[in-house]
Amino acid sequence: MAKFSPYSVIGEVPVGDMVWTKGFWADRVECCRSSMIPNMWNILANDSLSHAFANFRIAAGMEEGEHSGPPFFDGDLYKWLESVASVFAVTRDPELDALMDRVIGVIARAQRADGYLHTPVIIAEKNKARKAAAPGPAYAGSDAAAPAVKAMIDRLHFEVYNFGHLMTTACRHFEATGKTAMLDVAVRAADYLIDRFANPDPQTAKNNICPAHYMGLIELFRITGEPRFRDFAAALIDNRNLIQDGTDDNQDRIPFRDQRKAVGHSVRANYLYAGIADVYAETGDKTLLPPLFSIWDNVAHTKTYITGATGALYDGVSPDGDEDHWSIQRVHQAYGREYQLPNTTAYNETCANIGNALWNWRMFRITGEVRFLDVIETVLFNSVLSGISLDGRKYFYQNTLREESVMPVKLRWPRHRSAYLTSFCCPPNVLRTIAGAGTMAYGVTQKGVTVNLYGGNRLATKLKDGSPIKLSQKTNYPWDGDIAILVEEAPAEEFSISLRIPNWAPGATISVNGQPLEVPCAAGAFHEIRRSWVAGDLIRLKLPMAARMLCAHPLVEESRNQAAVMRGPIVYCVESADLPEGLRIQDIMLRSDAVFSEEPGTGALKGLTLLGCVGARLPSGLEDSLYRELPSRAPEDLSLRFVPYFAWDNRGEGEMTVWLPLRWA
Ligand SMILES: [Zn+2]
Repeated sequence: MAKFSPYSVIGEVPVGDMVWTKGFWADRVECCRSSMIPNMWNILANDSLSHAFANFRIAAGMEEGEHSGPPFFDGDLYKWLESVASVFAVTRDPELDALMDRVIGVIARAQRADGYLHTPVIIAEKNKARKAAAPGPAYAGSDAAAPAVKAMIDRLHFEVYNFGHLMTTACRHFEATGKTAMLDVAVRAADYLIDRFANPDPQTAKNNICPAHYMGLIELFRITGEPRFRDFAAALIDNRNLIQDGTDDNQDRIPFRDQRKAVGHSVRANYLYAGIADVYAETGDKTLLPPLFSIWDNVAHTKTYITGATGALYDGVSPDGDEDHWSIQRVHQAYGREYQLPNTTAYNETCANIGNALWNWRMFRITGEVRFLDVIETVLFNSVLSGISLDGRKYFYQNTLREESVMPVKLRWPRHRSAYLTSFCCPPNVLRTIAGAGTMAYGVTQKGVTVNLYGGNRLATKLKDGSPIKLSQKTNYPWDGDIAILVEEAPAEEFSISLRIPNWAPGATISVNGQPLEVPCAAGAFHEIRRSWVAGDLIRLKLPMAARMLCAHPLVEESRNQAAVMRGPIVYCVESADLPEGLRIQDIMLRSDAVFSEEPGTGALKGLTLLGCVGARLPSGLEDSLYRELPSRAPEDLSLRFVPYFAWDNRGEGEMTVWLPLRWA
């Protein structure tokens, strides 16, 4: 049965009820199964490279050693495990099941008797105790023999982040397998947190760094039905009000209910907003809605890249503050000021983009509004998939919109895809998002189902009244706008099938069994078709797929008089691999009267639809000075090729740009 929340209008289809069968997402999930998951397991279980699994074995007492890696490494293993569970839900592959059992067995052994589970602290405690028990001269003042104490929750240690992903993964594993081994671990961990935060003070209230635990606790409540997990998540929002010296970086300088703009670290922000939307869905606390909707407006209309990415800045200062409380604070990996969306130095951590999708999925479930699904689709196709190479084995931490090899600036993360990242949070987050995207493809409503995402798939689930329904989709979307939805099984009573018409698709048409619908489709809304359905009924949706040129709001200074190319939900870019030898990205222009042709990708880009048009090249030979006279010669015509942005940097290290200067015809 779909999961309904009392204050949501959309129920979530359980993992396993929807399977991608053929086409774009089927290919990505197959790549996840055959390449991404095994390749990442080789990384996580490679003790000399990542140590993530070794940390659990040592914490479990199966081996001796020290913790190695960042403190959020536990969460990275959980995220990988979540992707395995989601893939298992549709493949039922016994090898994946056995692998999960093995890993979960070690995770469970690593958990402390009181429920605490964070390998850096547990390993330190074990090694301390071992040293104390070892024969040899005791030295004065040693506290080595002290028993393990309840660890403090330290937000810089990412304990609560790890706990949150533990809970989310455990719920997904239970849904996929029906097994409770991981769920039991998560319940004990959640109860530890409840106990630990029973009497919050300003210090313990500052627990929230990358706060994955709001989402984790609410999911745990949905799966177990135990109200204490929901109530604890709600109480944590109030606990934040105790914080005296909060920061915009952590979204706790002022109480959440007073916030109206997105500030600070964008992963922390998006995880927080997603978690609080979850709390609303279960509690109906209306005081949470003004900040959620205002912050969403602020992000969607002034702080989101055309790729759906968020978190523009590597480093900046807080845009918040007022005349009475003006304090300049450093923020990092952060939401900047309104319209502050640089291209070459765009940060856009993959985890922040995923957080944006997680948040919008929860806003959609609360409201049933298409605008949130439009964000999700943009993020999935562009700024999530950009985070992993087409072969599933290389990653981006940041997702820039322009790469210029001549930039004399060293930025913190590699500008090209890497097989491993020392901060490994993003890669497994991409895996779990790809593997679990099917749960967002449909929604169950009071009246029927919504079709949220398009792609070849098969849905076998139940309507809200429990009656079974089966649908199948056939389409080559997003390369083709023709989508066929076949009703394979339907209850005798009338119900609605509501098709999402994206905001970019005015002119979409629908027919049922060959008969065009009389009511025209409105873009940016659901088109509800309510009738008695029978097996064999066929819906045809046609979305207009002509390439389009977009420009940015004039206040986005770094994209002024430039245009980007989109086709359907796909953002395109130009790579130097497709330019004449020696020509730089900065030397090319788009003509405002461009007419686009389509061509199939070849080689590494096989299966993708590329675009071509006549653009222009600037006169060559400009001197290398900061300011120069305008060249007297006119730009010359130049053939341009555009490739999907998510597929950039799969053909060697070159330059890339999404935005191109416009030559007005
Ligand atoms: Zn990340």
